[in-house]
Formats: sequence, structure tokens, C-alpha cells
Amino acid sequence: MPAQAVKRKSRGFICINAHPEGCRRNVARQIAAIISHAPSPRAGLRNVLVIGASTGYGLASRIAAAWGFGARTLGVFFERPSEAPKTASAGFYNTAALHEFARRDRLFAASLNMDAFSDAAKRQAIEIIRREMMPLDLVVYSLASPRRVHPKTGQVFSSVLKPVGASFTNKTIELDSEKVVPVTLQPATEQEVADTVAVMGGEDWEMWLSALYDEGLLADGARTIAYSYIGPAVTWPIYRDGTIGQAKKDLDAAALRIRARIMARLGGAARVSVNKAVVTQASAAIPVVPLYLSLLPLALRKRGLDEGCIEQMRRLFFDHLSDGAAPKTDDAGRIRLDDRELRPDVQAEIAELWPRVTTENLRQITAFGDFQREFRSLFGFEVEGVDYDAPVETDLAL
Ligand code: NAD
Repeated sequence: MPAQAVKRKSRGFICINAHPEGCRRNVARQIAAIISHAPSPRAGLRNVLVIGASTGYGLASRIAAAWGFGARTLGVFFERPSEAPKTASAGFYNTAALHEFARRDRLFAASLNMDAFSDAAKRQAIEIIRREMMPLDLVVYSLASPRRVHPKTGQVFSSVLKPVGASFTNKTIELDSEKVVPVTLQPATEQEVADTVAVMGGEDWEMWLSALYDEGLLADGARTIAYSYIGPAVTWPIYRDGTIGQAKKDLDAAALRIRARIMARLGGAARVSVNKAVVTQASAAIPVVPLYLSLLPLALRKRGLDEGCIEQMRRLFFDHLSDGAAPKTDDAGRIRLDDRELRPDVQAEIAELWPRVTTENLRQITAFGDFQREFRSLFGFEVEGVDYDAPVETDLAL
């Protein structure tokens, strides 16, 4: 297909296309954020598998491993290639850029664009790891998915974002109309809770680790890490205590099982890292959270504490995963990268502003404009330095 100028297309708030050059710049910026902190690679990670590697925390993890440690990486993700006249999805372009930069910097990178929940993806990953990498020092599990086809039964599970036990009323930003409105979310049924746990809980993480261990592909001392969120009390009914929170509790339980059954035999570890709230395709879909994400950066920036995915992953990989670094954990054994977000002074400021936010003052007293820009930049739009009138090649290969 001839190169063409790509303009943002949206359905409501969501972008339905992506800009390859904008995505490429986002990846370049993340790589620079790692290299500037670690001009020569750290020791401790040589072969790394990232499941959910094309956007958000998974992409940042992959970049931290490759450019921070010189690790060989295999990324698994589920993204849409371009199909003229449609562009590919942002995660597809992110990965095309990652491969371009990896070739430039002589780093090994392999990618599997497949449903990570399937047995076929695990089989193919195992082949690549055996052929090109082995053994793995680290397996990162960073999937965020609305559905899962169970590989053994074929049953399809859909996750929901609802409170559990009681309805929850709060205010939220209606993203399409930019109105600040009250919202009441009805509690999930038992079935919906179970289905959300089946999608976002720990079963698939455990299946990956079992498959890799059975094939002898985990190094002595290997580690695995999955990402979670806790957040402040204002979001607990919809997050920590909601359906997604139940799935995250299941992830905590899976970490204990994986540790006892697999990693202990290798002298390794299985951990959950509790990360801060950031703007990603997954987090913007959670009711109430966009308002929170419009207030949080204000309170953090003022204190010089704001971080995006790459700054969080830089901290995780350099402070907790490199050779000689002893991971600091909470009482439940989790790494806490949400320490700055949950500082009492940061949360007090958000709590003070929260009741005052209205449709009229949304853009004055919150950082909603930044939230919107950041969301669009996830798709490669409104990225600094990109000429959106210039034709770009949209039909890229991985
Ligand atoms: P994201 O939407 O940016 O990334 C999700 C990734 O999963 C993408 O690479 C996507 O391709 C991949 N994926 C989805 N379904 C797949 C499938 N069936 N097969 C293969 N790949 C698939 O999400 P994110 O916000 O980076 O979330 C990643 C993890 O971090 C999640 O566990 C999330 O709960 C956690 N987390 C997120 C936040 C936040 O604020 N965004 C905070 C703390 C923890």
C-alpha cells in the first residue's frame, strides 16, 4: 500500500487507528529513558520472556530488560496487523519499532503475535526459547485482556469491571462527552466474578510457568513476576474489592503456588509487583479511574514524583531485579512500586480536590487535558515531533 498521511480516528474516546511514527517515537523515548540511566548494561538478566509485551507495562518491561541489561527477549502479545485501508494496532507498531531499534543495537528480539492463553502460543514460545534463548532468567506476566478462551475446555470467559457485594456510586468522567457525572455500578453476579478471575487471575500465569519448567527452560535462580494494582480507598469498591481485585487476589495466590511448586526447586522466586496507576488502554476502561488519573499526576508532579510505565519499570528492574539488588517487599511478599502514589500527602490532595470537580472546572482543576493527550499518544497521536500531514508507511512487518 502506498504511504499515506494517518489522521486520528476515534469512536467516542477510543482511537480506532494508530500512527506508526508516533508509536515509534514513544518506543524511542522509552529506550532513551533506560539508556540514560544505565549507559552500560547491568548484570543479572540474559534471557527474558514477556507475556503481554506490546503496550503498557509489558512493553516497558521488555525495553528495560533489553536496553538495561542487554537481555535477549521474547515478547508475546495479541495485536492487529494492518489490513488496507486500516492501520495496524498501536502494539503492533510499537513492536515493529522495538525490532528496528533492537537490530540497530544488536539485541536479540523475537515476537509471537498469538493468543497467550492458548496451548499453541506456549508451544511456539517453547520452541523459540529452546532454539534461540534458553534458559530463561525472568518471565514477566503483563496481560490485560477482556476475554480468555480456556485452552483445555474451549470455554470463553469475559471479564467485567464491577463492584462485588454492593452497588457503588461515585463520580466519573463520561469520556465521550467530557461530563463529570454520578455513576452507579451494580454489583457483579457470582458468575461474573468467577469469569473475571478466569481471565485476569493467575491460572494462565501458572500454566506458562509449568510448561516452561516441564521443558527445562528455566534457569537456576529464575524469577517470575506479574503485575497488580491496589490504589487508594476511593477506587477500592471498583478496583481492589471489585471483580478485578478478586482476580488480583487470585494472582497473589498463584505467586505462592508457583513459588512453592516450581521456583523453590530452582532457588528462584515468583512475585507480584504492585505498580502505580498509569494511563494505558486497560486502565482507561475502568469506571471512575479516568478521574483519578486526571488528579494523580497533579499531586505527584508538584512533588517531583510522577512516573510513567518506563520510569516504574526502570525502578523495578534496576532496584529489584538486577544482580546484587535485594527486592524489598511488603508483608505479603509483594514489590511495591505504588509507594509514591499512596503517600498520604499525595492522597490527601486528591481527596481534597475530588468532591470539587465538576464538568465546568474539569479542565481547570484537574489534568484531564494531559490524560486525554496521554491516552491519544498511546496510539501514536499527539506525539511531539511527528508531522501528521506527512505520508507514512502503515504496512509494517514484525
Ligand atoms: P495494556 O492494555 O497496555 O497491555 C496489555 C498487553 O496484553 C498487550 O501487550 C496486549 O497485546 C496483551 N494481550 C491482551 N490479550 C492478550 C492475549 N489474549 N494474548 C496475548 N497477549 C494479549 O495493559 P497494562 O495496563 O500495561 O496492564 C498490564 C498489567 O499491569 C495488568 O496485569 C494490569 O492489571 C497491571 N497494572 C496496570 C496498571 C495501570 O494503571 N495500567 C497499574 C498496575 C498494574
